[in-house]
Amino acid sequence: MKWLIILALIAVLVIFIVSRYRKQIQMALYVFRMFRKMRQMNKTDEKQIEMREEEQNIALVNCAKCGTWIPQNKALKLRSDVFYCSATCLETIVKVG
Ligand SMILES: [Zn+2]
Repeated sequence: MKWLIILALIAVLVIFIVSRYRKQIQMALYVFRMFRKMRQMNKTDEKQIEMREEEQNIALVNCAKCGTWIPQNKALKLRSDVFYCSATCLETIVKVG
């Protein structure tokens, strides 16, 4: 019974605080969310810039099988000047001879 009274008191206190400072709490939550969103946006921006820089530095090569343009670092190389976009394209060439 003692715990029930204490719990009820705590509940009343929490309700009192929440109702009294509701606007402040909402404001704090809003600011907190905004900060988090801003941080996430900054992170994605940095990633996109990094990716763009990578793409610019790496030359595009043409797949010898299907003709798809792919960055050289992602291409599969059979000979020094022959590139393939995927293992599937490479396999078909290897199988044919
Ligand atoms: Zn291909």
